[in-house]
Amino acid sequence: MFRDTVDTRVNHIAIVGNPNSGKTALFNALTGLRQKVANYPGVTVEKKEGRVVLEDGREVFLLDLPGAYSLAPHSPDEKIATDVLLGRLDHTPPPDTVICVVDASNLERNLYLISQIIDCALPIVIALNMVDVAEQEGIIVNPQKLAAALGVKVIPTVAIKGIGILELKRAIAEKVLPSSKSREWTLEEPMRSELDELECLLVDHQKLSEPEALHESIHLLSSPTVRDEHRTRFLPEILAHVEQDHQRLDALGIDRLSSIVEARYSWIQRVCQATTSVSQRKKTSITDRIDRVLTHRVWGFVVFLVLMTLMFQAIFTWAIVPMDMIGRGFNALGNFVADILPRGDLRDLIINGAIAGVGAVVTFLPQILFLFLYIGILEDTGYMARAAFIMDRVMNKVGLHGKSFIPMLSSFACAIPGIMATRTIESKKDRLVTILVAPLVSCSARLPIYVLMIGAFIPTRTVFGFLNLAGLTLVAMYLFGLIAALASAWLFKKTLLKSETPAFIMELPPYKMPSLKSVLLQMWNRAMQFLKRAGTIILGVSIILWFLATYPKLDHSNPSDQLQQSFAGRAGRLLEPLIKPLGFDWKIGIGLVGSLLQREVFVSTMGTVYGIKDANESAGNATLRERLQQDVDPKTGQHTFTTLTAICLMIYYVLAMQCMSTVAIVRRETNSWKWPAFQFAYMTGLAYVVTFIVYHVGILMA
Ligand code: GDP
Ligand code: MG
Repeated sequence: MFRDTVDTRVNHIAIVGNPNSGKTALFNALTGLRQKVANYPGVTVEKKEGRVVLEDGREVFLLDLPGAYSLAPHSPDEKIATDVLLGRLDHTPPPDTVICVVDASNLERNLYLISQIIDCALPIVIALNMVDVAEQEGIIVNPQKLAAALGVKVIPTVAIKGIGILELKRAIAEKVLPSSKSREWTLEEPMRSELDELECLLVDHQKLSEPEALHESIHLLSSPTVRDEHRTRFLPEILAHVEQDHQRLDALGIDRLSSIVEARYSWIQRVCQATTSVSQRKKTSITDRIDRVLTHRVWGFVVFLVLMTLMFQAIFTWAIVPMDMIGRGFNALGNFVADILPRGDLRDLIINGAIAGVGAVVTFLPQILFLFLYIGILEDTGYMARAAFIMDRVMNKVGLHGKSFIPMLSSFACAIPGIMATRTIESKKDRLVTILVAPLVSCSARLPIYVLMIGAFIPTRTVFGFLNLAGLTLVAMYLFGLIAALASAWLFKKTLLKSETPAFIMELPPYKMPSLKSVLLQMWNRAMQFLKRAGTIILGVSIILWFLATYPKLDHSNPSDQLQQSFAGRAGRLLEPLIKPLGFDWKIGIGLVGSLLQREVFVSTMGTVYGIKDANESAGNATLRERLQQDVDPKTGQHTFTTLTAICLMIYYVLAMQCMSTVAIVRRETNSWKWPAFQFAYMTGLAYVVTFIVYHVGILMA
């Protein structure tokens, strides 16, 4: 091609492939730590970029595209992959070379996407990945024969062991186009000539590139009818031609979509037959044997609960030590600043605003790392898919599909990816129900609040011989959120959004040894995102709060009175009558309002409020936990926080919306203010009522 003779440099490389084919593992093997994660502009599809150093020392950019089964996009992920390959995205140049990752143990399914990528006429290298898994299953794919059949370079790889990476780096530097320019798969007449004709029209009149014209003509020919979205993209004369084609072909009784899919598959079958041998002594799959227990009606559920309990135990017993170390580190930093700066507002701002606020939240980093480590390992082994399978039975009881559990599972990390994941749910009403209840599942932003409250007010006593009470309380909070989500879903399905429950079909991937490297990398990326938030939003809010909690200044008053008279203190006291029935005082009120933005701000707010309140007192070295335990109302002599207050606060945060980013994403996903407003109202109402009941029952029982 012309472009090749002028410029054979490779700058941009994209990795494409089916979900779970090992793209990310390969990406990690190629880039190591030279990577960063962001989002594509306007959508929350993750954009993973990195740099690779080739053998000759050159650096190239590598883009890990979201997983796709085909380039006829059904999901936002697939649309991004398609748009990048066709060079349609601003700010993302079309790749100079594409690495297609193929799962050797699933060649047939993977080749469907490959046949479409070959149509794009880009230089391609195939990474024939997971050859180890294939071999275990008795499947041998011959790379030379596959290369010959596809007309591209094929490199066998085992991404998680780094096998084949060097060869892959050499191959991408060469930039080789698929050998034959003609499509290898062929349509029967008359589809074939109609397609060719339409392709020419699109090139001539619409000025599309050849691959894009092919892509669009397949899309146009196979859609049932010409739709509105087509009218905005194609010239009227082209659409008129397409409509004529539709009529003619339909009259001949040709199923336009199937004939294209079948043509690809008959080519795929030929390729598979020529390249793959399956040995007879296929071992009884270990996966099947494990699944007999893990997806069992009763045992599966027991294992699921045990795994979840272990996770929370681990969070408590192991993470406490590094947490206290970080807490004391921030205190030491505060003392150091106190020594070098002169007394005054600037010193206070730095110590009680910035350091106390940010420190209070950063302290929770170890726990968040543990949570992500554990979830990452469960995901990587393939267990998470079983969890969804087990939960399908429960989901069915509340009228939802097993698919709705995946968004809920993601919501344990954060409701935002959870709500994005509802896009795979076909039923509109079910999708809305899932969106409405997903934020009730406890996300990682609640973890700091739970941990602060439990650490300070729930004793780490051993119960039942080996479990500890603190860990169990944390499990209880997570379960409570999950139950609240399921119960609300049931209610919404019965009332507001009535509809049938669809059947469940799900693919369970085989079990694997988790790859420590990919789990750790994921954990690292998430930790960085967490720290970034602490460094920006939390820092900003802490500084603003410091001002509100410090001014207006009174003369000669003690810090505690000063705090009461400040703007924040007045606002808190204004709110107090409303939250007194829940057992909360005005200082907690400041936290509740501050954390409307995002939940973990509650903890930084407490850090700042108590930092100011206890300034000049000898409490300088106490951690926030100790300050909360010691806080006593000067008038009544009662503790601000009791075990009951702590439980009430946690319950309030389990149920209340308290997250503006979630409101924004729900507004975007439902395209109206009605649903986020409803969601905010029902969650806050629920939180208020339930906390009220718990508080009063608690008082009666005490
Ligand atoms: P992606 O969805 O395409 O990004 O796939 P991932 O890179 O996340 O890989 C899916 C799973 O397969 C992970 O558990 C990987 O550790 C594992 N994996 C990736 N490549 C290989 C391989 O070559 N051999 C084996 N045994 N496992 C692999
Ligand atoms: Mg991936």
